[in-house]
Amino acid sequence: MSDLLERLRARGWRLTSQRRVVAEVLDGEHVHLTADEVHARATTRLPEISRATVYNTLGELVALGEVLEVAADGRAKRYDPNAHRAHQHLICSGCGAIRDVQPQGDPLAALPAAERFGFTVTAAEVTYRGLCPNCRP
Ligand SMILES: [Zn+2]
Ligand SMILES: [Zn+2]
Repeated sequence: MSDLLERLRARGWRLTSQRRVVAEVLDGEHVHLTADEVHARATTRLPEISRATVYNTLGELVALGEVLEVAADGRAKRYDPNAHRAHQHLICSGCGAIRDVQPQGDPLAALPAAERFGFTVTAAEVTYRGLCPNCRP
């Protein structure tokens, strides 16, 4: 059990049974589920929970800054409860498994001034790709 539920409690977020189930499904390490996956898992605990409720709850959690949306090239975006620890993603090209990783050094600082084209650069996302142990031939 990671700390998503604790963070939400600490913020005084009203935990209805539906919101609680969504938060419980998302809680944990290396969790990056699509909205449909969240819904599928939520229905095993709360069969009557609707897709709309899951989508709305995910939207609220993102707006609160407690869950990140991870864009996954052309595929459905994923929801990541690891919202307060800067990290990058390591993605398996075979099965799509995603791990949270922390490269050495600051990816923001890795972009030299000459490559910034006058931009104020505020964030960097790095995606590492490869084959996980299960997919390696
Ligand atoms: Zn894999
Ligand atoms: Zn992540």
